[in-house]
Amino acid sequence: MADKSLIGPDDFRQIYDLFQASISRFDCGQKCAPLNGGEPVCCSTQHAVPVVQKVEWELLKSRTDMWTRFKPYDRATRQIVKEIGSSCAAVECRGARHCERDNRSLACRAFPFFPYIDRAGKFIGLAYYWDFEDRCWVISNMQIVEADFLKDFIKAFELLFARDPEEYDNFKSHSASMRRVFSRRKKPIVFIGLEGGFFEERAYGKGIRPIPAAKLPKFGPYKSDRAYARALKEAQAEAAAGGHHPDAHLVGDPARAGA
Ligand code: SF4
Ligand code: SF4
Repeated sequence: MADKSLIGPDDFRQIYDLFQASISRFDCGQKCAPLNGGEPVCCSTQHAVPVVQKVEWELLKSRTDMWTRFKPYDRATRQIVKEIGSSCAAVECRGARHCERDNRSLACRAFPFFPYIDRAGKFIGLAYYWDFEDRCWVISNMQIVEADFLKDFIKAFELLFARDPEEYDNFKSHSASMRRVFSRRKKPIVFIGLEGGFFEERAYGKGIRPIPAAKLPKFGPYKSDRAYARALKEAQAEAAAGGHHPDAHLVGDPARAGA
């Protein structure tokens, strides 16, 4: 896609209007927050630093005072901010207890998914931010994703790509990075198809095939009730000992880092 981006704040307003559906009927934050000091993982900059385009940031500032520029709190987060491209900004909100649903960023609405672009350049589904496999409950429970969420996600990203071809290029490159990571792991990429249903893309270009919900992967504390109970105990012990610093990752437009 070679067209130059002409995207503006009003385009993000339209994208927000298109993307209203909740990811599931459950409050998934109730699953991950107990392992994260009571805060949903994706609403805590200890884990996820939201990145928005500057034009999206303009829109957010005009609608709410819930968001501010992200202030790095250690060496790793200073590096994260340094690497973000000049058209983007790292931001933070006031936290889940003060969340204004209508003023969530596009990254918040889509998390933990991003548009997956295949080798031929076609948008074929929703893949997940793999850095969050061991933290986000939804990634281990993709069967709970609602059909309305899928529809809204597709409409929102189709509009984004039409208005800003650079975003398409970024997610294409992010999808290619995922293929490299999963080839090294010798694991298939599991994603949700645009018409619903689950698929796996096997490593080394061995093709894509449908998989039943019963074969969806589970990770870390979400592998079983026992694993969850153990992780909860460990999280409580860590909190009592003063907590620890997990690695934070960019969320929203990771491929723009350094752009
Ligand atoms: S999307 Fe994932 S990380 Fe965010 S609240 Fe739900 S389970 Fe937690
Ligand atoms: S705006 Fe809401 S959904 Fe987004 S990070 Fe903040 S609390 Fe979470």
